[in-house]
Amino acid sequence: MARYYGPKCRMCRREGVKLYLKGKRCEGEKCPLNDKSQAPGQHGTSRKALSVYGMQLREKQKAKRIYGLLERQFRNYINEALRSRGVSGNILMQKLESRFDNLVYRSGFAVSRAQARQNIRRGLFTVNGKKVTIPSMEIKVGNIIKPESFEKISLREGFIMPDWLEVNLKEKSVKFSRFPVEEDLQEKIDIQSIIEFYSR
Ligand code: SF4
Repeated sequence: MARYYGPKCRMCRREGVKLYLKGKRCEGEKCPLNDKSQAPGQHGTSRKALSVYGMQLREKQKAKRIYGLLERQFRNYINEALRSRGVSGNILMQKLESRFDNLVYRSGFAVSRAQARQNIRRGLFTVNGKKVTIPSMEIKVGNIIKPESFEKISLREGFIMPDWLEVNLKEKSVKFSRFPVEEDLQEKIDIQSIIEFYSR
């Protein structure tokens, strides 16, 4: 699968917010966004001057980058959300958050979504006791995620477990207990702006 392999911090600088793409570094003092808010490039970009279209465009770029998706993959989620009977924004968020790689990251079993994807492909995680190697797989509410072995993975430290995930300390597993709502997300994304961008 084609993917962006350029400098990750550049993407955060472009969006003007932390996208948490580099694991531990993102939480520490070395994050360049701690002291640089200007967009990359010689002159940066004035965010104040953005039109409504520009703001919507930036929101969808931000979401794509956070979840590590290419336009085609992201578009598929949008199409599914727009076709669904529910509230499109909620459906989109549920689709993105239900991805296996996202849940491994949210559970603290990887320091970034990129690392989660890599380790899922290596067969280091199970869903309901069965090995799953597809990072994009949609996990159902009630499913249980567990590493095959803790020796081969890097745990994410110093994070707060979302309350829509349920930890089983004895089993060392995490249950996807409910869909998150927009306020639950650590990264602030204006989901409605994204839906409006694609509904034009
Ligand atoms: Fe780089 Fe992480 Fe900071 Fe983004 S949040 S600028 S990826 S260190």
